Amino acid sequence: MLKYHRIVRGILQGKVQRLPYRLNISLTNVCDSRCKTCDVWEIYPKKRFNLREELTGDEFRNIFRRLPKSLMWISFSGGEPHLRKDFTEIMAAAFSEVRNIAMINIPNNGIKADRCVEDWKEVLAIRKRPYVFISMSIDGPAEVHDEVRGVAGNYESATRALEEIQGICRREGNAAIGIGLTISKFNYDRIMPFVRQVLDRNIPLKIEAASTGDLFYQGRDSGERPDLAHAGIREVVREIYGMQKRKQWRWYSPIDFLTRNHVRGAMRFLEDPSRLVIPCSAARSNYGIDCYGNVNPCFFYTSRFGNLRDYEYDLMALLRDNSEKVAKARGEIKQHHCTRCWHICNSIDSMIDRKLTRPWTFLDV
Ligand code: SF4
Ligand code: SF4
Repeated sequence: MLKYHRIVRGILQGKVQRLPYRLNISLTNVCDSRCKTCDVWEIYPKKRFNLREELTGDEFRNIFRRLPKSLMWISFSGGEPHLRKDFTEIMAAAFSEVRNIAMINIPNNGIKADRCVEDWKEVLAIRKRPYVFISMSIDGPAEVHDEVRGVAGNYESATRALEEIQGICRREGNAAIGIGLTISKFNYDRIMPFVRQVLDRNIPLKIEAASTGDLFYQGRDSGERPDLAHAGIREVVREIYGMQKRKQWRWYSPIDFLTRNHVRGAMRFLEDPSRLVIPCSAARSNYGIDCYGNVNPCFFYTSRFGNLRDYEYDLMALLRDNSEKVAKARGEIKQHHCTRCWHICNSIDSMIDRKLTRPWTFLDV
C-alpha cells in the first residue's frame, strides 16, 4: 500500500521548509539498447564521459543518508539500471537510508530479462520498503519496438520480463509494473493496435512524447525538436487519452488523477512547445542528480549547481553553498528560458505544487 501519510508529510514539510520532496537520480549511463529516441547508449562508446567516474554503491548510500526528511519520492533512471552489478544493494540502501521514503519508480528496457527478473525478486522481497513502480519500456508491437529500440528480440524479452515481474509484484505486494510507451515520429502511426491490447489487458500504461534535452540527447538535437513537430503525435496522444479515460483511470485514485492530468499537459505542450504548460518545480521541489554526482535542476536543463563529491554527499549543503546559482536557475525556469519540457520526471510535482498554492487550478492541469 502506498503510504499516503508519508507522501503528504513530505510534501507539506518540503513546502513549509522549502526543501525538495522528490529527486530524479540516474544510476548509470551504461545502456545495452540502441534507441532512436535517446542517445544515452552512445555516451561511453563515443567516450563522452568516463565510466569510472560513475558514483559507487557506497557513494549512493552516503547521498541517501544525508537527504532531508521531506524526501519521500525518488525516480531512478539510467541508462539501464540493471546493468549495474550493485543494483540490488543500491535499492536496499535507498529503502533503509532515506528516512521518509514512500515510493520509488524506475524504468527497465527488458533486454536482459533474466537479470531484471532476478533483481526484482530480490528487491521486492525486502519487507521494509516503499511502494515500487516499475515501467517496462515498450514502444509498440514487436517489429516497431525492435526497430525503434535497435535491438532484435527486445520486444520478446521485455514482454517476458513484464509478465514474470507482474507475478512477483502480485506475490510481494506494495509494487506494480506497467508499460512505458514513448511516442515519437518513429512509431506514432503504428502503435494504436498495441495500445488497445495493453488497455484490454488492463496493464497500466504511461505515455510520453519523446523529449530532447541536455542529458537525453547530449545536445545532438538541441535547439530543434524534430519529434514534437509531427501533428500525428498530438493526434495519437489525444486518442490514447480518450481510451485511458474510458478504460483505465479510476476517478477515485489520486495517482490516476495526476497521470490523467499529465497526459492533458502533454497535449497542451505539444500544441506549443515554446512555453511551459504550468510553472515548473525543478530546482525547488525536485532536483536531478546524474550518475557522476552532479546536481542539476532536472535532466533536461543541466545548469550545473555542483558535484556531491565536493560536499561530502550532502545535497542540502551543496544547494546552500550554491544558492546564487540555484536562484538564477529558478529565475530562468520562471521566465521559460530553460530547455522546456513536459515530462513525468517533473510534471507530477509541478502539478502538486500548483494545486497547493493555487487551489482554483485543481481541475486544470
Ligand atoms: S531510452 Fe533508455 S533504454 Fe533507450 S537508450 Fe535511452 S537510456 Fe537506454
Ligand atoms: S520545464 Fe524546464 S526546468 Fe522544468 S523539467 Fe523541463 S526543462 Fe527542466
